[in-house]
Amino acid sequence: MRILNFGSCNIDYVYAVEQIVQPGQTITTNSLEVFPGGKGLNQSIAVARAGVPVYHAGYIGADGTMLRDILQESGVDLTFLKEVDIPNGHAIIQVEASGENCIFLYSGTNKSIPKEYMDWVLGHFSEGDLLLLQNEINDIHYLVSQASKKGMQVVLNPAPFTQDLKTLDLNSISYLLLNETEAKEFSGTEDPAEFVSFVRSNYPQLKVVLTLGKQGCIYTDSQVTLAHPAFDVPAVDTTAAGDTFTGYFVAQLATGNTYAEAIKFASAAAAVTVSHMGAAPSIPVMAQVEEALKTLKPHSAENLKEKNQRKQIQDYLTANLTSANLQDLAQAMGYSDTYIGACVREIMGVSFSRLLQSMRCQTAAQLLLNTELSISEIISQVGYQNENFFRTKFKEQYGVTPNQYRKKR
Ligand code: ADP
Repeated sequence: MRILNFGSCNIDYVYAVEQIVQPGQTITTNSLEVFPGGKGLNQSIAVARAGVPVYHAGYIGADGTMLRDILQESGVDLTFLKEVDIPNGHAIIQVEASGENCIFLYSGTNKSIPKEYMDWVLGHFSEGDLLLLQNEINDIHYLVSQASKKGMQVVLNPAPFTQDLKTLDLNSISYLLLNETEAKEFSGTEDPAEFVSFVRSNYPQLKVVLTLGKQGCIYTDSQVTLAHPAFDVPAVDTTAAGDTFTGYFVAQLATGNTYAEAIKFASAAAAVTVSHMGAAPSIPVMAQVEEALKTLKPHSAENLKEKNQRKQIQDYLTANLTSANLQDLAQAMGYSDTYIGACVREIMGVSFSRLLQSMRCQTAAQLLLNTELSISEIISQVGYQNENFFRTKFKEQYGVTPNQYRKKR
């Protein structure tokens, strides 16, 4: 089986700006960084770094030298990559120090690929070979139908999702690899279990991998449905997580590993990617993934459930600081008061009422430091009725009275 990835290559121009330019305004910056990008490029790099031969087909412009270089250095076969007299697809990205950004995308080469060139490339492949596609180049429908007519297996990562993908004949596709947002576009549901039954009843032959970010992934085909948790890593930058996952999964198909192995390696490779800054440069080689697998620990289901519950409890208390009570929280979380009371104790290490006191005092402390509100105004804002009770609780938590605390400013 040979692997052909027909996909985008992009240049990301990242400008650091004081403030994102407004209509009618001209701003100046001296800070420019240039990065290789594009889902096509990332996925080809991931397959190659997984140690499996891959051909990358698509157009690049004369300004795309750095793209060619990184593909080549990663071991991607560029026999079919064509340089044309069209500006390379690129993104103009303004980033403020706060992290706020705004992106302008020029498709250029990526949306200028003629069908004759597509036919020419596909002419070099045959039954049993695999075509990998994302949705960043033109005429995906055409590529899918031509490749499936030849008996090639098509692996589609329908990203970024556009409405025209809904008219695609998913029966011509062997594998669909998608995230929750894309899954919702196809099926209308965000719920992974419902999505799996949607796939199984509408596309019985389709093999699907649904990636769920930190919640891992699900593989389903007509025989089995398998889940794999994400690995527990400090996430530094999740860019290219999905691309790494897809590239490694495809590479595993070529090596003939089981689906269980494929989603394990893909998840581990993606975990390595998210624990490093950057897109293409953070995609690991197989040796790094194998090394990481010696120590990586999966997020256990229990852990995840606990993390979700912790977030639900914190969100509820933040939103209902003045009126919070255990009965409401239990109702919001869909369990009995007794169960949620025990959960709070288990997860947060204190009883519900202590937790509430502590959050009220924390908010009061912030208001004391950052506002001129009087103590009685603060007390009513955080939900206390009794001033003495508040003063006692505050002193218990901070060791000083509210007034002494305010003087620390
Ligand atoms: P996309 O980047 O396409 O939105 P996901 O966010 O679903 O894709 O991530 C793809 C895969 O990357 C996940 O199935 C998981 O294995 C891995 N991953 C993503 N985010 C994390 C994270 N914070 N920690 C560990 N692994 C992650």
